[in-house]
Amino acid sequence: RTVYLNGDYIPEEEAQVSIFDRGFVMGDAVYEVTCVLDGKLTDFEGHMARLERSLRELQITCDISRDEWLAIHRKLLELNGLTLGGVYLQVSRGNAGDRDFHFPPAGTPPTVVLYTQEHPDMLDGPKVTKGVRVISVPDLRWHRRDIKTVQLLWASIAKMTAEQAGKDDAWFVEDGFVTEGSSNNCYIVKGDTIITRPLSNDILHGITRASLLKILAERQMKVEERPFTIEDAQGADEAFYTSASSFVMPIVEVDGVTLGDGMPGPVAQRLREIYIDEARKHAI
Ligand code: PLP
Repeated sequence: RTVYLNGDYIPEEEAQVSIFDRGFVMGDAVYEVTCVLDGKLTDFEGHMARLERSLRELQITCDISRDEWLAIHRKLLELNGLTLGGVYLQVSRGNAGDRDFHFPPAGTPPTVVLYTQEHPDMLDGPKVTKGVRVISVPDLRWHRRDIKTVQLLWASIAKMTAEQAGKDDAWFVEDGFVTEGSSNNCYIVKGDTIITRPLSNDILHGITRASLLKILAERQMKVEERPFTIEDAQGADEAFYTSASSFVMPIVEVDGVTLGDGMPGPVAQRLREIYIDEARKHAI
């Protein structure tokens, strides 16, 4: 692979970052993952808007413009011939010169890394046809989950816990309510209503979530933005999650309880089709 590091397009083996980089020492970095369909970027503006917000919230200075971000993404797609997958982007506060709780001096350049990832089964893998099974775990993450930082340790442990239990993914639960999935936003379907937790600092403001809610509003479908419990999900007709790399993913089991007939539900399947169609239409 050819990757991008601080202005250069180089083979991945040659891409090196300091041991004093704030991203390495303190998890002091933000990231984005933009999905690529037919060689084009989906929801690109949304991802860049969230990136700018994450950087601002953490006071990380990075003067790359949206046009420049787009040019870097496109060049990586071209250099690597990527048609289906994603582009990972990370900006850390840069090389602090030593381990130090203080931010490095103003003017220290951020460390900027981008690379492509192929996901050949993104459109039709076994999870899509069979649906996913989730377990709940307590939400032990910090309280600024609206900022997309690389501090993913608890998310990683949660996902591993689910897989070690023979399931696919974990849902975080806090104060009795589901916050979100290990790397996705969650929804339940009751009758003709789609229920999802409202935005706050408790969850990541998913770009796929925003696009899906727009699609639902345009089609006058019923949406309730309110917190729900594991029991609500277990009694629901359907459940699903959204993320840039999975679009709309049907959920068929929650903490050992099968939803409906145990197969992906019609609403989730239909929304997946519509979302992918719309994402294709607006990809750049
Ligand atoms: N919530 C969390 C914790 C995530 O890590 C992600 C994606 O990585 C999402 C939600 C979904 O966000 P998006 O739709 O922007 O990919």
